[in-house]
Amino acid sequence: MYIYSRYRNPTVVAAEEAIMAVEGSEWALLAQSGMAAIDIALSIFQEAGRQSNWLFFSEIYGGTLSYISSVLQKRRGMEVSFFRPTDRNYDYTHLESVITESRPDILYFETISNPLLMVAEGRRIIDMAKKRGCRVIVDNTFATPLLWKPLDDGADLVIHSATKYLSGHGNLTAGVICGNDNKLMQSAVEYRKFVGHMLSPDDAYRLQTQISSFELRFRQQCDNASYVAAVLSKSEHVAQVLYPGLDTHATHIAALELTGGRGYGAMVTFDLTGSTPETKRRRRDKFIEAVRPEIKLIPSLGDNHTILMPVEAVWGAKYPEPGMIRLSLGYEERAVIESVIRRGLES
Ligand code: PLP
Repeated sequence: MYIYSRYRNPTVVAAEEAIMAVEGSEWALLAQSGMAAIDIALSIFQEAGRQSNWLFFSEIYGGTLSYISSVLQKRRGMEVSFFRPTDRNYDYTHLESVITESRPDILYFETISNPLLMVAEGRRIIDMAKKRGCRVIVDNTFATPLLWKPLDDGADLVIHSATKYLSGHGNLTAGVICGNDNKLMQSAVEYRKFVGHMLSPDDAYRLQTQISSFELRFRQQCDNASYVAAVLSKSEHVAQVLYPGLDTHATHIAALELTGGRGYGAMVTFDLTGSTPETKRRRRDKFIEAVRPEIKLIPSLGDNHTILMPVEAVWGAKYPEPGMIRLSLGYEERAVIESVIRRGLES
């Protein structure tokens, strides 16, 4: 029944059905942004007066980390803990002991981390959590349902920033929560309605149109990323390339097992050479200048065009390689991207 657009809207429902088809989920609920989807997914597990114990992977989107500190901890007084990687990979023996000892009721992780592109052993994590009665929420924005469908392996909820690959054109902001459990859906519908996190029908219409080309686009973007990662690895101007499809990446095997080789995502992070931090910064800035206008510095990802971000400017000293650049591959002709990247490297 359609009573009022903030509760339920037929255009939004049509877009949700399109997402259910790609995600293979029983239900999908759209929100105005990825962050709104995250707020819904987490808030439905909050109950007044109940002591909760939520465990988050530390390698998650910066906006989610800010939400945790400024909303969950500061305003809602929640206690949360973080699981941190060791040497740019996850130590699952350690994770198992953390889960066994601290008995979290929610575990939250991202399938592919940002910007180091560490691929989590999703099935193993879900098994560990489920054995101890812990709910699992996966932010699958970077992997998309084309690489992995966490609900098929027992996750309780999957979140996407639909601003990224699902819509894929950098022209709208949206988020979605997918699940199979009807009770969770009812809680999420109620929360979305009362806080007003509903997506607008205009955005839903565009999202639905654009999602019809999602698989085609994302496949091409993954192929382009793989190709560009290989080009970069052969360059004398590049110190290291982080791409889960390369066997040099610490989580290459985890990626292969999780996705069955369907792809490794469309993000590539690389580090330019230089004898000092200053020369690295200069090389990075020259690269960014030289690849314009085809590749622009845009603080997003998953657009149709290839875009980039300098890692130091966003994450600061967390990753101490000042020459590091994160590329989000678009679906342009491979030869075009290659020539622009080579122009940047030679600059
Ligand atoms: N999750 C991930 C992995 C993201 O990268 C982002 C944004 O970059 C979000 C969630 C938040 O999405 P939105 O910007 O649509 O609110």
